[in-house]
Amino acid sequence: MIYIHVPFCHRKCTYCAFFSKVESGKWKVESYVDALLEEMRQRRGEQDHPIRTIYFGGGTPSILPLSELGRIVNALHECFDLSRVEEVTLEANPEDLTPEYLEGLNDLHFVNRLSIGIQSLDDKVLRMIGRRHTAQQAIAAVENAYRTGFHNISVDFIYGLPSEFHFWHHKVADLSSIFNFQLVSHVSAYALTVEPGTALAVQVEQGRAVLPDEDEVVGQYERMCRLLADKGFAQYEVSNFCRPGMASKHNSRYWDRTPYLGLGPGAHSFSLFESGSTSVAHVEKRRWNNPDGTFEEETLTEADAFNELVMTALRTTRGLDAAQVQDRYKERLHRMMQPYVDCGWIAVLGERYCPTTEGLLHADGMAAKLFVE
Ligand code: SF4
Repeated sequence: MIYIHVPFCHRKCTYCAFFSKVESGKWKVESYVDALLEEMRQRRGEQDHPIRTIYFGGGTPSILPLSELGRIVNALHECFDLSRVEEVTLEANPEDLTPEYLEGLNDLHFVNRLSIGIQSLDDKVLRMIGRRHTAQQAIAAVENAYRTGFHNISVDFIYGLPSEFHFWHHKVADLSSIFNFQLVSHVSAYALTVEPGTALAVQVEQGRAVLPDEDEVVGQYERMCRLLADKGFAQYEVSNFCRPGMASKHNSRYWDRTPYLGLGPGAHSFSLFESGSTSVAHVEKRRWNNPDGTFEEETLTEADAFNELVMTALRTTRGLDAAQVQDRYKERLHRMMQPYVDCGWIAVLGERYCPTTEGLLHADGMAAKLFVE
């Protein structure tokens, strides 16, 4: 699988700590694409697994003009065997998804899944967090995308935002008149986190933004889970919900620890290699535009690999497969999982420890207890 990082945004959202720059001119985007194509050509040999998914993430990939996206698509075809690709996702912001852009995107015959960053359907909140779109634009973007032929649409929301009024306070009946869930096949919903160094962190510190307390955030999460279940979405990860068969193939492979090639500034790659009888995760980080083409490499220890496995697996309903765990940690794992099984946070299916709905709420806490040094 391939991840392509597009590091540009129209402007910085107040809560965002992702690596992105405010786009400052056509030439910047063009030189980014030139460098990306060069990187693809240099690294084409590193992808030794069949490519089944491609993901354009950011930043804001929909900032790319169609002509530049077309250049990237051509280079991908030139550099990689794409005959087995099943899913190509493009992250998009609602204001970019005009009917013309959507038509052009459809004409590329490449992207077959859109992930649209709606975040909130409250214009006041959207303004407060620095988003450029309105609720109406978000709804129109989803409707236009569906009408254009994109029938695998994921939407992103954030809960726990600084406001008294919030999307997830609505009753199901009210929501149906605001947002047509029939048009989307996937929902990602993330709890707001206040990252140091962001504008939001400053606002919170100065008392200009007031965050809901923990009970309210948990309440919003539970209302959201109930609402999405009513609408026919099954939860398959702490933050991800889908209609039957519509889970994100790309993200599911991350959680299964499938190797991937990350391209673009700051993108990580991940590969596995055998060391003696043990699979060792091997993570490499590539520095963008480094003139000598070098990149940072990090080899995970057995403990790191175990911790990473526990952290990602316990956030999914597929759960943690004890068969994937190194022998030296197995006995400890069984012993430490038993209390969670007893209290109903974990169900045991064969060799798998699968979080229940209640358990998903405690996934990070359970994982932290299991970490080894
Ligand atoms: S659009 Fe996305 S990546 Fe860009 S600043 Fe906002 S949250 Fe960050």
